[in-house]
Amino acid sequence: MILPAPLLTQLRTIQGFDEASFLAAHEQDAVTSVRLHPVKGTNIDIKGTPIPWCEDGRYLPSRPVFTLDPAYHGGAYYVQEASSMFLSHVWKNVVDDTNNLRVLDLCAAPGGKSTLLASLLKPESLLISNEVIRSRASILEENMVRWGYSNTWVTCNDPRDFTKLDGYFDVIVIDAPCSGSGLFRKDIKALQNWTQDNVALCRGRQERILADVWTSLKEGGIIIYATCSFSQEEDEQVLDWVADEFDARTISVPVSDNWGIVETASPRKGMKGYRFFPGKINGEGFFIAAFQKQDAANTLKSPRVKAPDMTKVAQQTAPLLAPKDWQYIEWSKDMFSAICAPHLSDWQLLQKALYFRKAGLNIGSPAAKEWLPDHAIALSIDANSAIPAIHVNKDQALQFLKREDFGTPENEKGWRMVKFNNLGLGWVKCLGNRSNNYLPKHWRIRMEIPDEEVL
Ligand code: SAM
Repeated sequence: MILPAPLLTQLRTIQGFDEASFLAAHEQDAVTSVRLHPVKGTNIDIKGTPIPWCEDGRYLPSRPVFTLDPAYHGGAYYVQEASSMFLSHVWKNVVDDTNNLRVLDLCAAPGGKSTLLASLLKPESLLISNEVIRSRASILEENMVRWGYSNTWVTCNDPRDFTKLDGYFDVIVIDAPCSGSGLFRKDIKALQNWTQDNVALCRGRQERILADVWTSLKEGGIIIYATCSFSQEEDEQVLDWVADEFDARTISVPVSDNWGIVETASPRKGMKGYRFFPGKINGEGFFIAAFQKQDAANTLKSPRVKAPDMTKVAQQTAPLLAPKDWQYIEWSKDMFSAICAPHLSDWQLLQKALYFRKAGLNIGSPAAKEWLPDHAIALSIDANSAIPAIHVNKDQALQFLKREDFGTPENEKGWRMVKFNNLGLGWVKCLGNRSNNYLPKHWRIRMEIPDEEVL
């Protein structure tokens, strides 16, 4: 791989850069890794080695065709680059989650950091996963539905739309759009498009994004800032800019010597950061830092809310959900969601400010004689375990995921959840001698399935 000469010149000035191991790593393929779902991933067989900074992370010996693994579709794991999983270690060391938290993942698509955050949060905390680009927001939504947590909501807004949410969030994660030099092994376009001018452009955008959301962070709240760029302009210099513009206190994270992660500090203000060089670590290029807001912030008053009367919806959907303190909301005309009851005031406040793709768990809609369950219930960790299910083998699961007939048992009638290794994949409605497949069309596997598929 031929790396841009100006980038290499810059890298040689950066602390901890080891040219020989870096160039050698760029002659090799990117490392494949996955992060197991703490609830759904417990009984799947993944043969991998642990990633030291993330309990659920595993390096895989090779890259399988994930599309052909039903466990992937059931959300048993998320395919995520290993360095990014360091967010888990940062979170555990910098965030106090004694109280319930409101967390914003501002640049969230396709959902790597958000699915990780969802696994770390307590059920009573709330995660808003936001993505400004509409097409990417739908991928984010799909991944968050697959991950199955009811306290994760998805929005599609520009960072400036958060400005009015004064002091609302306890933690904001900004995995900023960047020049992408850390991802050359995974994304050849990042290499082809890399220019010094683009680094400068990204830096301006990163500062604008930080400025836009600063007011929505509460006093004492934490920002976790990350990029996949090696350029100091987008990393340390952005941290210096933060320290110039705002009252922010840097936060250090303990790092084991044998992890190969380079601790760095911004040149003027000494703001701490952590850099990942391929070759020194087993993963891709990454930078992450955490800092705490010291300046006073206004705080939005939560509205006094009156819970809408949803007795009928609660009765109709009770067999679908695990018992919990649910509040039901009419999400759009005749489309209902279940949210954690204490989040009702958040919904009432945020729906006025943000454009929502999903709030809570979509539970479906009423029809003339029955309740139509939403696909999201099949993937939810809050689905009622007593829902009648059809347990399928791998071949049948792949047929179902292609929206083809997988041979439903005869004489079954009614809604059935299709399960593979006890993981929900979707719904069928059995009609005695045949069944209708309710997998949403855009979720279906499009590739041809080879005759003998082994993961
Ligand atoms: N956090 C994601 C994950 O772990 O899967 C990756 C995020 S990616 C590095 C940066 C995201 O920022 C992209 O999804 C991109 O669409 C979004 N983005 C691009 N321009 C933006 C802007 N001006 N403001 C906020 N987000 C932006």
